[in-house]
Amino acid sequence: MIETQKHTKDELFSILANIPDPEIPVLSIKEMGILKDVILQDNSCEIIITPTYSGCPAMGIIEEDIKKILFEYGILNVKVKLVLSPAWTTDWMTDEAKEKLRVYGIAPPLHSSCSNFFAEKQSISCPKCGSQNTLMVSHFGSTACKAMYKCNNCEEPFEYFKCH
Ligand SMILES: [Zn+2]
Repeated sequence: MIETQKHTKDELFSILANIPDPEIPVLSIKEMGILKDVILQDNSCEIIITPTYSGCPAMGIIEEDIKKILFEYGILNVKVKLVLSPAWTTDWMTDEAKEKLRVYGIAPPLHSSCSNFFAEKQSISCPKCGSQNTLMVSHFGSTACKAMYKCNNCEEPFEYFKCH
């Protein structure tokens, strides 16, 4: 009945790679660097994910999405395992993912080596017009992962995906 053997690890990985990030639907959990590994066992499979920000409510949604999509492929015995170490970092996001984020209207994270509050406050480019004449309005945006900014050039508010 449960035949994960029908699917290779690569197949399962590419199925899961299409799951969108619940908070940033233009990015997949693979592009976010959340999806780490797929481990096939005799009659089950284990999916390894690394949470982004600790306590990010999205993780529960991602776990449900993983189970749902694998269920559609007839894979019922699925275990989703959260691996906290090494800790997720925004550096795991590919350049392509960061560009998608910018097009979506969220300023992508700077490299984590500049992950201090002052640096982020100084040099965030507006995702719409590219101006660096921006101002942090609040350190927390719609989620704890993001900060609210306002562009002084085009006057558009935008969110910045904080380094982590
Ligand atoms: Zn602007």
